[in-house]
Amino acid sequence: MRIIVVGLGGTIAMTGHRNGGVAPTLSASELVEAVPGLSEAGIELDVRSFRNRPGAALTLGDLGELLSLLRESFAAGAAGAVVTQGTDTIEETAYALSLLHTGDEPIVVTGAMRNPTLAGADGPANLSAAVRVAADPGARGLGCLVVLADEIHAADRVRKTHTTSVATFASPNGGPLGYLAEGRAHLLNRPARRYTLPGESLAAPARGTRLPAVPTADDGPLAAPARVTLYTATLGDDGSLLPLLAERSDGLVIAALGVGHVPESWVPHLEAAARRIPVVLASRTGGGRVATSTYGYPGAERDLIARGLIPAGFLDPYKARLLLQILLTAGHPDIPGAFAHS
Ligand code: ASP
Repeated sequence: MRIIVVGLGGTIAMTGHRNGGVAPTLSASELVEAVPGLSEAGIELDVRSFRNRPGAALTLGDLGELLSLLRESFAAGAAGAVVTQGTDTIEETAYALSLLHTGDEPIVVTGAMRNPTLAGADGPANLSAAVRVAADPGARGLGCLVVLADEIHAADRVRKTHTTSVATFASPNGGPLGYLAEGRAHLLNRPARRYTLPGESLAAPARGTRLPAVPTADDGPLAAPARVTLYTATLGDDGSLLPLLAERSDGLVIAALGVGHVPESWVPHLEAAARRIPVVLASRTGGGRVATSTYGYPGAERDLIARGLIPAGFLDPYKARLLLQILLTAGHPDIPGAFAHS
């Protein structure tokens, strides 16, 4: 059984920086060597340092190249993959990987909240757990998983919920898929479905400028990643920035109040935007499904959907933004249909 371990950086790989603070310095091999007992686990590891960046500096281009590397490794017989990276963006990178990875080999993303210079650093335990999940036959077919603090999360549900806690990752919709106990993965829940976008790509697209935005799904693939703006509804915001944002965007995601509500003054702006670009309605609450048929007043979900907004289902605004960006970049023909799976 061979597992590929790919290091992208993040706190798990960070040590003191000459300018103060910590920054990514450790190679993936150094991370693996720091894990007690891993070499006796009977799992062959193919260890690669791929990037050494903080989570915030990763790009979709990096993920596209990572996917190519993983596909080659799976084709050559690796049974699964572990990716180590900054926790700041795991909820997004893991979701992007889950959309684009269609094979049975599990891709397990992990990281650390306490860097290796701190007492109680959690990187070695998380890496050990991630390797064991990637090698577990029960994880096959589950796509991309996130493993930290001995919990196994589905990539399309997981959220970072706390700035510093080692138990920061949670799945508000449905809970974890399973747990690690005594060094073994125990999968208790299997997702009812797995949504992927076969044939789409995250590879860095050819450079090109796309101003002004003229996005429609019918235009076919774009020359550069689509610009998708995420904008949050807040008390008393009159929405006057919306026309500007919409004009400069290929797609818009609204992190709405509650089950999908915005101030009434936003309604004409969103209606106008939705005539030109896809506008997705997600909730800023952090859990639950956007409603579609409950509230009837202007700015409520029924009204907004009737004016052309696309409900995000259970997808949080960050994942909804990524899905829309990938769909638009690929020229996907049915954006509402894709969100209907959420
Ligand atoms: N700032 C770090 C990063 O995302 C946080 C972490 O890894 O936990 O790279």
